[in-house]
Amino acid sequence: MDYEKFKEGIKGCEKCKLHENRTQIVIGDGTKEADILFVGEAPGRQEDKKGRPFVGRAGNLLDKLLEGIGLDREKVYITNIVLCRPPNNRDPEEEELEKCTNYLDKHIDLVDPEVIVPLGSFATSYILDKYDLDGGSISSIHGEVYSVSNLQGQFKIVPQYHPAAALYNPELEEVLEEDFEKVEENI
Ligand code: SF4
Repeated sequence: MDYEKFKEGIKGCEKCKLHENRTQIVIGDGTKEADILFVGEAPGRQEDKKGRPFVGRAGNLLDKLLEGIGLDREKVYITNIVLCRPPNNRDPEEEELEKCTNYLDKHIDLVDPEVIVPLGSFATSYILDKYDLDGGSISSIHGEVYSVSNLQGQFKIVPQYHPAAALYNPELEEVLEEDFEKVEENI
């Protein structure tokens, strides 16, 4: 499917109740030619306002981590497992994940990345389940490199802490820097 048609098809989506409070749907950012696809959790207040993923403080940290491995947003693709902001930044609910992850699946098909980087526990759990991989808590599997070989080809999955976690626990910034190096080693 063509990327522009895909985006057009998401416009006005009301498949789950998150449409009721959103300002806009935050589809994704970057290039669909990217080797790396980052998958966060959900848009926050700033993202909902601006229509781009990771534009708040967590986004600044993501930019810094990308810069640390010689990349920027123009060279990667970034999306979330749910595309509309949950009220008060609550966790996405099961039904919302069920309805919205179809769009993530299409993003994966369109970008066809060499490395998928789920950020945080929600994205990690969805991506590992999707490919029948054994998971665990994000604190135990962050930085692990999973290899997948299927009909779509071969690619890697490298789960990471969500950058927002490092805003509350600054020690995690160093862990993220080390784990981002694992991403760099696999592209
Ligand atoms: S979160 Fe996803 S499924 Fe729900 S309304 Fe937004 S785009 Fe549609």
